Order: sequence, then C-alpha cells, then structure tokens
Amino acid sequence: MKKALVTGASRGIGEAVARALAKAGFKVYVNYLNSEEKAFAIANEIGGLAVKADVSDLEQVRSMFDETGDINVLVCNAGISEYGLFLDTSPEKWRRIFAVNTDGAYNCMRCALPSMIHAKSGSIITISSVWGICGASCETAYSASKAALIGLTKALAKEVGPSGIRVNCIAPGVIETDMMALFTEEDRAALREQTPLCRLGTPVDVAELAAFLASDKSGFITGQVFGVDGGFGI
Ligand code: NAP
Repeated sequence: MKKALVTGASRGIGEAVARALAKAGFKVYVNYLNSEEKAFAIANEIGGLAVKADVSDLEQVRSMFDETGDINVLVCNAGISEYGLFLDTSPEKWRRIFAVNTDGAYNCMRCALPSMIHAKSGSIITISSVWGICGASCETAYSASKAALIGLTKALAKEVGPSGIRVNCIAPGVIETDMMALFTEEDRAALREQTPLCRLGTPVDVAELAAFLASDKSGFITGQVFGVDGGFGI
C-alpha cells in the first residue's frame, strides 16, 4: 500500500487532502501540532496514523519520519498566516511565518527525498497561495513565504525530475477554513464578489486536485503552479 504524509492535516485543507488520499487508497499519516484529538479522530476514521511534529523544527520532523518510514507522497500543507501592516511585522513574526510555511516544507522534503530518490519515484505537493503569486496588502510575510514555496517547487522539480520525482504546487484562493476566522461576513461578501465563480472555495476543492497530483494520472506533470481560486487570481 502506498503511503502519504500530509502536514497540518488536523483541520481545514490538510484534513480534506488526507481524506481524499485515503479514499484514493493511500495509507495516510496525519501530521498535527496542537489539534491532537482532531488528528487522532481523522486518522482513526480513514485508517491512517496521527503523527505529531512542529514542521519548523527539523529534529521533530526527523522523528516524525522515523515513525512514518519511507513515503510515496508528501503534501507540504501546514501553514500559518498573520494580518497586519508591514511595519508592524516584528522580526520574530516574520521569522515564525517563514519557519512554518517555508522552512517547514524544506524540512519535510529533506526527510522524504532520500527514499524517493532511491525508489526513483514520488510526488511532492506544496500548498502555496494566490497571495504568493499576486501579493496581499497587510500580509507581506505570508505572501513572501508563499512565493518562496513556488520558487522551491520549481527548482526542486528540475533537480529531482531525472530521479522520477514530481514536485507541484497548488495555490488556493480564498478557502473556507479556520484561517478565515478573522474575516467578517462583509469581508466574505467582498471576496465572493471579486471571485469570477462568485463563491469562496472549500477544502474539498483543493483536495480533489491534490489527489490527482498524487496519482499516476498526473505522471507527466511537474514544476507547475495550479490556482484553485475560482478565478480570483486572474
Ligand atoms: P487552518 O485551517 O488554519 O489549518 C492549519 C493547519 O496547519 C492545522 O492542521 C495546524 O495544525 C497546522 N499547523 C500550523 N502550524 C503548524 C506547525 N508548525 N507544524 C505542523 N502543523 C502546523 O489552515 P488552512 O486554511 O487549512 O490552510 C492550510 C494551508 O493552505 C496553509 O498552508 C495555508 O497557508 C494555505 N492556504 C489557505 C487558504 C485559505 O483561504 N484558507 C488560502 C491559500 C492557501 P494544529 O491545529 O494541529 O496545530
């Protein structure tokens, strides 16, 4: 049975990706940091395993991979956002956002790649954001960390393609999850209005594409950035 690790799978987009991969036949490792109960419940439901690690910490990530063993699919989804003016973004806030959103992917890729290279196959999916492409006012650290993920995806795809490993990126638009909790109904209405498909996205919208990119059906696709945003980023 093929194995997949989804980071930040205790809620939101990561949870939906974990469920979609399990449905597609993968044994799924559900990574979490704080939402332990939820992670165990999801893992239990989908026949997977919950694995704790702060993805920003390479030692914790190494221990997590000791638990998972070799994996076939890695989804770098764990992420945090912060809203505020650039000049109010302290060096600590800036570092933490990069540590989770960008270093987190680097740490997991480092641990996943040796066995993928040995097996000459694997699929890595990064979850960036439309803001990593367009840039969002008052979300400079977040936008920069997500743009870095896009660069990482493309560069790594070129490097490990000859080893049979594909690396792709999903750039979601506005998706209804806890990350949107700060937004008022008025904000949501404005966002819907700016979206050509006239609605906000759901975690399942993102998960469907992730399952395709994890599968052999996408065998000739690598280094790409896919918007799942209802046209928001056009
Ligand atoms: P969410 O509902 O806030 O969930 C975040 C997930 O990340 C949780 O499972 C959380 O785990 C985990 N996490 C946070 N910090 C972590 C760390 N240091 N180590 C391990 N896990 C950590 O967020 P979401 O909306 O589903 O977002 C998922 C991804 O999609 C993020 O990368 C986000 O930037 C991206 N995205 C979201 C949107 C959107 O509109 N929602 C749009 C574009 C991109 P615990 O709860 O266990 O701590």
